[in-house]
Amino acid sequence: MPVPKRRHSKSRGRKRRTHWKLKVPQWVECPHCHQLKLPHTVCPHCGFYKGREMMVVSKKEKE
Ligand SMILES: [Zn+2]
Repeated sequence: MPVPKRRHSKSRGRKRRTHWKLKVPQWVECPHCHQLKLPHTVCPHCGFYKGREMMVVSKKEKE
């Protein structure tokens, strides 16, 4: 198995890690109930997606 000959410098490791950042979740407004939801997902508030109900949300959760 290959083994690295030299330890990489702190700066080299840190430069590589400049690309890995936490990304903020993107939220969109539900066209049906106007609550914020994740894009391309069934709305957790009303269960609507692409203009029709995909999932029945229980009444307790709606209130
Ligand atoms: Zn909704």
